[in-house]
Amino acid sequence: MQLDFERSQSLFNKAQTLIPGGVNSPVRAFKSVGGQPVFINSGQGSRMFDVDGNSYVDYVCSWGPLIFGHAHPRIVAAITSAAEKGMTFGASTEAEVVLAEMIVQAVPSVDMVRLVSSGTEAVMSAIRLARGYTRRDKIIKFEGGYHGHSDSLLSKAGSGVATLGMPDSAGVPPNLTVDTITIPYNNIEAVRAAVALHSKSIACIILEPVAGNMGVVPPKAGFLEGLREICSENEIVLIFDEVITGFRVAYGGAQERFGVLPDLTTMGKIIGGGLPMGAYGGRREIMEFVAPSGPVYQAGTLSGNPLAVAAGIETLRMLKEPGVYDELEEKGAALADGLAEAARSAGATAHGNRVSSMSTLFFTAEEVFNYSSAKTSDTAQYAYFFHRMLERGFYFAPSQFEAAFVSTTHSAADIEATLSAARDVFETMKKS
Ligand SMILES: *Cc1c(COP(=O)(O)O)cnc(C)c1O
Repeated sequence: MQLDFERSQSLFNKAQTLIPGGVNSPVRAFKSVGGQPVFINSGQGSRMFDVDGNSYVDYVCSWGPLIFGHAHPRIVAAITSAAEKGMTFGASTEAEVVLAEMIVQAVPSVDMVRLVSSGTEAVMSAIRLARGYTRRDKIIKFEGGYHGHSDSLLSKAGSGVATLGMPDSAGVPPNLTVDTITIPYNNIEAVRAAVALHSKSIACIILEPVAGNMGVVPPKAGFLEGLREICSENEIVLIFDEVITGFRVAYGGAQERFGVLPDLTTMGKIIGGGLPMGAYGGRREIMEFVAPSGPVYQAGTLSGNPLAVAAGIETLRMLKEPGVYDELEEKGAALADGLAEAARSAGATAHGNRVSSMSTLFFTAEEVFNYSSAKTSDTAQYAYFFHRMLERGFYFAPSQFEAAFVSTTHSAADIEATLSAARDVFETMKKS
C-alpha cells in the first residue's frame, strides 16, 4: 500500500531547518519508529487528515485530551463564544470559579484547585508545594513514570526520553536530581525500604496511578493502598499525577476508580478540552500554602485562560452525561481485546494492558507490570506494526511506550476496520 506523503516530507525538511528536530515536542518526530512524521491539516471526530489528503482513524487523540474526538461542535462553540468576549484579561473571571467548583465536585480528594497552563507546570508546582508544606526535599518517583519536563523529574523518565535512550536530559544539573529517588513501579517493598532509609527527609511520593508513559501499566492490587498507608504513617504527601487518568478512567479519575485518595492531584490534558491547561489541587490544609494565601510561590500570565476554561467546562459537562464512561469502557475493550486476539491468532508475540479507554499492545510474551518488563518489548516489531497501520489509515502512537486512546467518536465500524487491518498486518509480520 503506497500513500503519498510528499507534502508532509517537504514540510518536515523545511521544519528541520527552523525548529529543533523539526518538531515542537520530541515524540512527534517518529524517532523511535523511524521514517518521517506526517503533518496534520485537520481533524473531525475520530479522524485526522494530513496535508497530503490522507485520512487516519486517530488513536493518539493528541496524547489524551480529545476524549470527545476532534473539533466536537459543542466544544468549538464554547471556545468561539468565549473568544468573542476576549482572549485573556489577567484578571479573575466567573468561568474560573465554575470550573474550579466542577473539579472539586468531581475529584474526591480535591478541596481546592489552582489552574495552570500545562501538565508540566501542574506537576512542577505540586512538587514545590509538597516540599514547602513538609519542609523536606526528597521526592520518590517511579521508573518509566513521566511527569513533564521539569528538572527534578527528569531522572530516568519515561515517554519521549525513554525511547530516545536518554536516561537524563543534558542541561539538568546533577544537584537538581540528587533528591529524586526512583523506584520500580508496582514494587511496594522497594518503597518501604527507601522510606525506611530516608524517613524524615521525603516530601512526597508521586506516581501515575495508572501508568501511561511506559505504555499502559495498571497498578497491582494493593499498590496504591500500600502507598497511601506509607505516606500517612510517615507524613509524606502522596501525589497522584492524573494528567492522563483524570476524567479518563472515571469522572473522578483513578482515585475514584480505585478508591484510594492522594493528598495532591495533578491534572491536564482532558480538563483543557484540547486547549493548553493544567491544574493541581488537593487537601485544603496543603493548598492554603500556595501564594497568595501561603508561602509557596506560583503564578501564570495565562493561567485560567478564558478559552481553555470554556473548553474545559464544556468537556466536563459532556462527561457528566449518563453513559459516557460505559461507552468508553466498551469501546476501549473492543479495541484492546480485539488487537490482542488478532495478534494471538496470527501467532504474534504480544501482551495487552488496558484500563478503560487507554491501552497498549506490548510486543512481548511477558506480563508488563513495570518499566523493565515493558522494555522487554520488541520495538522493531512495534515500528513495523505502526508503519503498516499508518499506511492503512490508522494512526497509533509513534512509540511502543505510549497509550492508545479511544474517544466517544470512535465508532464500532472504526474499531472493526482497525482490527481487520491489524489482522492483515500481523499476518504479514509472520511472513516477514
Ligand atoms: C502529559 C503528561 C504530563 C505533562 O503534561 P504537558 O501538558 O505535556 O506538560 C505530566 N504527567 C503525565 C502523567 C502526563 O501524561
